[in-house]
This record gives sequence, C-alpha cells and structure tokens, in this order.
Amino acid sequence: MTTVEGMVEEIKGKYGLDAPNVFRAMLQVPREKFVDSKFKNKAYQDSPVSLGYGQTMSQPYTVAFMTDLLGLKGGESVLEIGTGSGYQAAVLSHLAKKIYSIEVIPELAKAAHRRLKKLGYKNVKVKQGSGEWGWEEHAPYEAIIVTAGLDKNVPSALFDQLRDGGVLVVPVGTGDDKQMTKFTKIKNGEGTIKKEEHGIFHFVPFVKEPG
Ligand code: SAH
Repeated sequence: MTTVEGMVEEIKGKYGLDAPNVFRAMLQVPREKFVDSKFKNKAYQDSPVSLGYGQTMSQPYTVAFMTDLLGLKGGESVLEIGTGSGYQAAVLSHLAKKIYSIEVIPELAKAAHRRLKKLGYKNVKVKQGSGEWGWEEHAPYEAIIVTAGLDKNVPSALFDQLRDGGVLVVPVGTGDDKQMTKFTKIKNGEGTIKKEEHGIFHFVPFVKEPG
C-alpha cells in the first residue's frame, strides 16, 4: 500500500475490524512523517517499522485495535506510555481532548516532541522518563495505553491514575507474545478492576528502571 486510504482499506478487509471513528482518525495522520526516510516505502504497509534504538513502532492494525479498545468519545485525557515516533499519540489526538505521552529513550522523546510540534498537534504533550510511575501531574486519566509489552505486573501507579470508569489497555505476558489486556476501573469508588483479554500481539519489551 502506498496511500493512507489503501492502508485503512487493507486493515478493514484483512481483520474485519469495525472501528469507523478510529479509521477516520488514522486517515488524518500522515504515517510517512513518523517513519525514518529510509523506510518511507513501508509507511503505509500494515507492518511494524524500526524506530532505531532497538525499538519498533507497532503495525497499523495493532494501533487501530488498541485505540478502538479505549472507546474514546472526544472529551478524554489520555496517557500514553511509549511515545516512540509519536504516531499513536497523533492518532489519539484526533479522538480525545488531551494526550500526555511518556518515552523512556531521550532521543526518541525529543524527536517525537519536535515532530508533533512541527506537524501542528497542539493537544499532545511529550515528556522523557519512565512510564512506570505514570504522569501524576495530569491525572486522573479516562484512558491509559501502554505501547510496550509488560512482562507481568502492571505498575500500580497506572491504576491509581485512572479515573473511575476509566480504561487501561496494555499488552501483558512473559516472552514476546503478549495478551492484549483491557482493565476497567469500575465506577464504585473502591478501585475495583475488571479485566478482559483480547488476543495475542507481539511487542518490544517495556523497560523497567533498575532498583
Ligand atoms: N507508540 C509508538 C510505538 C511504541 S514502541 C509509536 O506510535 O511510534 C514502544 C516504545 O515504548 C519505545 O519507544 C520504547 O522506548 C518505549 N518504552 C519502553 N519502556 C518504556 C517505559 N518504561 N517508559 C516509557 N516508554 C517506554
């Protein structure tokens, strides 16, 4: 595929994902501006693309699937862990009010910040750091998305910073195969968490800081 329209059609056809709002958002984001110039030919293929530093941006289908699980309506504050290129954040910016995104690799955080600014995404804020502790300053969030694979325990800060009724979408599991997991904080004021599993995906590992 060489166009964004082609990419979206391919995802719809191949997986039968019914997510019109998400596709509308994806049609507005020029993915070729988020990949390194040497991978321009891959920008609209349904495949992951290397970001350098041993990191990979998810294939467009995975972005669509995870974004759909968030169930955004437009007024939300969203926290993303793992900014990478900023592509997922750009898609989210069309579907929610405010996007806060954290990236652990300084070079990627800086490049994503610059790129999103240059492309005019005004409702996305990027900071460098580890997402293990969430981003307390802007909490609570109606939705949190983790775009790197966690090995087992989901950091408790992410549950703490979720608003009642909010959802946390995160790939979890040992090894490369991660179970796409959606946690919902039930609106009972007691922090009760409901868990749903949505199938196996491959992810680069979430980096935990030593100590
Ligand atoms: N959402 C990105 C792709 C993410 S790939 C995009 O659209 O391009 C996963 C990213 O998570 C990588 O950039 C990796 O450096 C980052 N990451 C891994 N562990 C992290 C952590 N503890 N905190 C923040 N970012 C992390």
